[in-house]
Amino acid sequence: MNDARHHRQRILAEVGEAGQQRLERASVAIVGLGGLGSPVALYLAAAGVGRLGLIDDQPVERSNLNRQILFEEGDLGHPKVDAAARRLRALDSSLRLDARQENVRASNVEAVVAEYDLVVDGTDSFETKFLLNDAAVLLHKPLVHGAVLQWGGQVTTVLPDEPCLRCLFGGPPDPDDIQTCEEAGIIGSATGVIGSVMAEEALKVLLKARTPLSGRIFQHDGLAGESRVTSFPRDPDCPVCSPRALITDLARYEEQVSPRGQVLV
Ligand SMILES: [Zn+2]
Repeated sequence: MNDARHHRQRILAEVGEAGQQRLERASVAIVGLGGLGSPVALYLAAAGVGRLGLIDDQPVERSNLNRQILFEEGDLGHPKVDAAARRLRALDSSLRLDARQENVRASNVEAVVAEYDLVVDGTDSFETKFLLNDAAVLLHKPLVHGAVLQWGGQVTTVLPDEPCLRCLFGGPPDPDDIQTCEEAGIIGSATGVIGSVMAEEALKVLLKARTPLSGRIFQHDGLAGESRVTSFPRDPDCPVCSPRALITDLARYEEQVSPRGQVLV
């Protein structure tokens, strides 16, 4: 469809008519409709990504409204997936939206990840972040990872046969070392910065445009006014993406990985 709404991006060398059609045929799962999922969903919908999986089991709460720009006062108490679908449909009525009011767990992660071309991790749980990483690696799907806290955050993109989150971090941090946004605070615009970089990453992967943050991590510190990108290699002993992987099968995931995301075997 030669829609005037996409004209400003279609004239980019990396998009063009073929790229726009590629976006319209593409599907993206957005796991977590919070501070990160909000800008990702809005920008991917505005860009014309044809099908979006909206995955979240929470209702909209008043404390979400400082950063979760999909939602407004009238959405309070309603499921986030329904409010998000309403907002995105108002933006572009031609989009296909799958509102899935569920939490991603070991038992359903394959059904979610296998269904879409690309997965965006907008969750705030380390266990879920490593579960999504492991599922993306085992199912050969690209994953855009993001995380935020206080005034900053980070983004990396995991491509098939490229370094993954466990190459970088091994596993989730000790629960005692974790600060959540609920405890430590979060400035809404920091989620906008990180979420926007995540949306760019998703679009580059779908368009096959150079250069995704694969094997590289983008870190932003808004309070210091600094951003940097650091490279990291594939871990030859990575527990999920190396030839010596210990995490091998999503059907046996709960035997291989603890509920906290640590490798058991
Ligand atoms: Zn790895």
